[in-house]
Amino acid sequence: MTTASASSDRLAIAARDLVKTYRGDVRALDGLSFSVSPGAVFGLLGPNGAGKSTTVKILTTLSRPDAGGAEVAGIDVLRHPDRVRRAIGCVAQKSAVDAEATGRENLTLQGQLYGIGGRELRSRVGELLERFGLADAANRIARTYSGGMQRKLDIAMGLIHRPQVLFLDEPTTGLDPEARADMWAEISRLSGEGLTILLTTHYLEEADRLARWLAIVDRGRIVTEGTPEQLKSELRGDAIHVELAETNGHGQVRDALDRLVDVREVVLDGSSLRARVDSGAKAVPAVLAALESGGVKVASVTVARPSLDDVYLRHTGRSFSEADEGKESSR
Ligand code: ADP
Repeated sequence: MTTASASSDRLAIAARDLVKTYRGDVRALDGLSFSVSPGAVFGLLGPNGAGKSTTVKILTTLSRPDAGGAEVAGIDVLRHPDRVRRAIGCVAQKSAVDAEATGRENLTLQGQLYGIGGRELRSRVGELLERFGLADAANRIARTYSGGMQRKLDIAMGLIHRPQVLFLDEPTTGLDPEARADMWAEISRLSGEGLTILLTTHYLEEADRLARWLAIVDRGRIVTEGTPEQLKSELRGDAIHVELAETNGHGQVRDALDRLVDVREVVLDGSSLRARVDSGAKAVPAVLAALESGGVKVASVTVARPSLDDVYLRHTGRSFSEADEGKESSR
């Protein structure tokens, strides 16, 4: 899939050792590399501030790296940015839809920007309106559209010139759960049609569902990559999550658990205690007994198969939600 050994002319995206520093001190990208095979849905998953948007900006020619290079659709982004722009579609976090124009007008204008016109453009606009279920709303101004409809119009605009690679930067941020599920189905459908999609997200569930290949980004680097299943199966055993009745007393909790050899990778965050064990069913009674004898009150306990959150924790030492809020771990 995304092996570095694959010949670069067969790749839809190749990013090599990208470095980008803002204002001299914020190192947004710190040697980030990955590659994407044609037709794949590739997910860049990372908490806020990890460097995902900076990566997308470089690959879509909106920003230049300080070091490193990249090709998209086999074209060098630094040497031929105009050619790259014709080969890609971009759906940025911030909508490109003109709220005062109709859906049809938005698509038509977008097509004209790419030099498409006449009958070809009318037919392409009609096709996309149908394709995204917007035909009935085509002549209404976009301000009257729901959030989900506006996002679909954004994607339709990104596809007007039949790009080979589509960049979706946080495609479901701000959507309600129903619109998000609808968008997931749409993205899966696009991928089924052979389009290469690079998707950035800070939603673990979204990455798990959509990405055929996933790279986890942390502090400007890829910390691990693989299929979501591969990444989870590398983690041995189960994850246990104990909700403590109180948020303080972390020292007491650690003392109580220190005696249990089977309990690994303990992370405490407020009232939440997470750890990895070989067998959840065996470990839970021992953990509860140890906490009780240490004077720690427990509100609830759950056991789960490894999730992408656990994968992230394993590779970065922080839980995803902690990193997403920019907090430091209490380890
Ligand atoms: P993500 O998309 O994963 O949330 P970004 O690529 O937006 O991450 O940001 C990576 C880091 O670079 C963050 O620390 C962010 O604050 C910083 N950053 C991004 N854009 C700028 C900018 N234009 N000026 C200064 N710092 C920036």
